[in-house]
Amino acid sequence: MTTPDATASPAVRARGLTKVYGEGAAAVHALAGVDVDFHAGAFTAIMGPSGSGKSTLMHLLAGLDTVTSGTVHLGDTELTKLDDDALTLLRRHRIGFVFQSFNLLPMFTAEQNILLPLELAGHKVDREWFDTLVETLALRERLDHRPSELSGGQQQRVAIARALIARPEVVFADEPTGNLDSRSGAEVLSFLRRSVRELGRTVIMVTHDPAAAAYADRVVLIADGRIAGQIDDPTPESVLAGLDALRSLETPVQGPVR
Ligand code: ADP
Repeated sequence: MTTPDATASPAVRARGLTKVYGEGAAAVHALAGVDVDFHAGAFTAIMGPSGSGKSTLMHLLAGLDTVTSGTVHLGDTELTKLDDDALTLLRRHRIGFVFQSFNLLPMFTAEQNILLPLELAGHKVDREWFDTLVETLALRERLDHRPSELSGGQQQRVAIARALIARPEVVFADEPTGNLDSRSGAEVLSFLRRSVRELGRTVIMVTHDPAAAAYADRVVLIADGRIAGQIDDPTPESVLAGLDALRSLETPVQGPVR
């Protein structure tokens, strides 16, 4: 297992992050000053009640939406300084995405879907890495299948391989098990965890499911647009307890998040 080095510079860092939707009386303060680090080589889950700002935070960290104030760094690059074109390139080359709805192209085979990011980026296929991903995600027998010929869990595994194929610095997974039954969901989460522990990748996952969050190395709790604590080596029980503490106390659960 790869133990993340907490002293290494974080893969993703946010400081003073705020996001206001709308204006005047209709303004919604979705994020109210978020400071958080996500370590390289770690699997981190972002959890919190519905409406707490999880999706907003993920969108800002991934450069999918603009901040109201504050900074986001991916490695040494400040995302919050980049224009749209630079952000598009950065997302294509340095970030992988896994969505709840898989987002595979229906007319392409599993293999073609996995290789698509390399085609878009104009990069050569690293066959060794492709094979490693296919083996790790147990997709060898499915490579010639189209998405309609795959189960939900298999489609999501293809989506994970697609997210990892260009060796991005970080993979953002947005409710990756939201459309899966619990068995396929557990399988997908195990594969995500293997991609971190065995392949050294960095994964940040948004979820509302304590059982899913328990697959991560660390859970960052968010409430009312603020970081409300963190749980290291989470279990479903400790995550549930953390969420309960948020609801009743609204005080930090395990100290500041750095
Ligand atoms: P979560 O993912 O934790 O459910 P969100 O980040 O989606 O929370 O939302 C945080 C807050 O911001 C909520 O009050 C939500 O209604 C609001 N919000 C999110 N997106 C928008 C938007 N595009 N326009 C206005 N309000 C939004």
